[in-house]
Amino acid sequence: MESVSSRIAKLAPSATMAMNQKGRDLKDKGIDVINMSVGEPDFYTPDHIKEAAKKAIDDNFSFYPPAPGFPDLREAISNKFKRENNLDFSPEQIVVSAGAKNSLAHVIMSLIDEGDEVIVPAPYWVTYVELVKVAEGKNVVIKGTIDNDFKVTAEEIEKVITPKTKAILLCSPSNPTGSVYSKNELESIARVIEKHSNIFVITDEIYEHINFVGKHESMAQYDSIKERVVVINGVSKAYAMTGWRIGYIGAPLWLAKACTKLQGQFMTGPTTIAQKAAVAALNSDQSCVSEMNKAFLRRRDLIIDLLKDIDGIKTSVPDGAFYVFPEASSYYGKSDGKRKIENSTDFCMYLLEEAHIATVPGEAFGEPSGFRISYATSDENIVEAMKRMKNALSRLH
Ligand code: PMP
Ligand code: GLU
Repeated sequence: MESVSSRIAKLAPSATMAMNQKGRDLKDKGIDVINMSVGEPDFYTPDHIKEAAKKAIDDNFSFYPPAPGFPDLREAISNKFKRENNLDFSPEQIVVSAGAKNSLAHVIMSLIDEGDEVIVPAPYWVTYVELVKVAEGKNVVIKGTIDNDFKVTAEEIEKVITPKTKAILLCSPSNPTGSVYSKNELESIARVIEKHSNIFVITDEIYEHINFVGKHESMAQYDSIKERVVVINGVSKAYAMTGWRIGYIGAPLWLAKACTKLQGQFMTGPTTIAQKAAVAALNSDQSCVSEMNKAFLRRRDLIIDLLKDIDGIKTSVPDGAFYVFPEASSYYGKSDGKRKIENSTDFCMYLLEEAHIATVPGEAFGEPSGFRISYATSDENIVEAMKRMKNALSRLH
């Protein structure tokens, strides 16, 4: 007899992981799929980081790590916050987990009680709303629109605040839209939060280094709210280390302690070897980060140019991350004679099966009029994928 708990039964599987798997399955069958579903840098982890991991193995880092992470890594993260963001998080305020996704899960479980409301601007990253559900909180979604670069305003946030609001989840640069909130926009949001002393800000800054408009602005920079802000970050995107699984938080001390307690019971602590690699990533020369950023900018320009040339597709120009979130709803209701496209899932399945391009349906991000393309792939793949997309869409009438 199957008897999954109601908590897990109501959890949706990760759509990004699911589309990635579908793409891989077709590839395993010998089909030449261009995978633009899962968002991960296509670069290899830089050599100096790999060397540090090899050394950690030889130095016998084979024992359990401390629950919140090794002291040298927490120190390196504390220095990173100071150096790059001018933020003061002591090493005690830092907890290292198995990826930023894991960090987020710990923060949400440590902060959200049953019935607490969490404000989530949409389009949102798929995992946010699911984690809030597991914590038995209530998602309060506010929608950004393509004409407003998918950003929500401080006024829109203020309108949905109730006595039950416990937190707001912000993501800039954003997955899935690539939008970047300006310093002014962040400041006006901070002014609203300032007035509500029971609201916490969970700010996901994992794409901070993939920013095409200038210096990263952290939501934790405002003194009036800094006691209520937790920053989520990690090494996955900046250093092409998605598989190493190292993420971290900078948080108020009490929250860092709660997350450490949870981590101590759930998973002990993240892999020792990966932690040592992350120390090297954070403490070494950072030129690999800007090199990758340059490649992403070139690809952004390339894909935007090619998308403009496809009828019925409307897109904003992303300022960061490595995603575009075009509107595709003009194709809903159309058919190629064999199948009808009713929604963004049908649309993405059509692209997968007819054009062999894996993307992710907008439904998963709370915006069914669009779909997400990850352009963290080679220029050749981008050109070929857009050619295939244009071709396949021209058959829909
Ligand atoms: N936040 C956002 C917005 C992301 O896109 C990702 C990548 N999936 C994560 C967090 C988690 O990153 P990781 O677990 O690889 O550190
Ligand atoms: N950031 C990636 C994405 O959104 C990774 C997949 C995931 O962690 O869900 O595609």
